[in-house]
Amino acid sequence: MDIKTFIEGPVGTNMYIVSEGGDCVIIDPAFYDEEAVRYIMNTGLTLRAILLTHAHFDHTMGLSDYLDCFDTDVYLSEDDREMLYVGAKDASSAFGITYKVSEVPLTLAAADGETIEAGKLSFRVIATPGHTRGSVCYLSEKDHVLFSGDTLFFAGAGRTDLYSGSYIQLMSSIHNKLMALPDETAVYSGHGRSTTIENERRYY
Ligand SMILES: [Zn+2]
Repeated sequence: MDIKTFIEGPVGTNMYIVSEGGDCVIIDPAFYDEEAVRYIMNTGLTLRAILLTHAHFDHTMGLSDYLDCFDTDVYLSEDDREMLYVGAKDASSAFGITYKVSEVPLTLAAADGETIEAGKLSFRVIATPGHTRGSVCYLSEKDHVLFSGDTLFFAGAGRTDLYSGSYIQLMSSIHNKLMALPDETAVYSGHGRSTTIENERRYY
């Protein structure tokens, strides 16, 4: 499995293109980036799905543009669906960015425990409410890689003061679900550098 990181937008959001054997997925289509489109096309990859860890605007602004380029499935938790259309619009206006996600036809729900098959790639959905009610992480069980969105960061956790956030839920998600993963699990977060479950265990 190959992981290519693109850092996008005013708050430095990590957008990942994860590939294996000619198939790829985008995890959090933060902002439109021609370089990312070129990367997919020039390497002959087939985009099998777009996976959203949650619906905050800084993780979703590129969604409609990528769907203009590629015909593919989009996964998002049902609990963040409303935010994708409504809540993030307000947040994006604070940065003076036109929000286009409202034009996107959704999609498939990413439900806890579900396995998403995307060509040769496979991810288990782990519901981790707290940063938003519908926040999820995507786990590649074969490669021991977790895409944690804004739930777990290097030496930190996501903020919970925004709409539908809950500190108690976030701590419960991290303690009960993420800390139950093997030490060697690599963690690729929505912002900042990657880490491991072993590294983060000292804080929880
Ligand atoms: Zn967020």
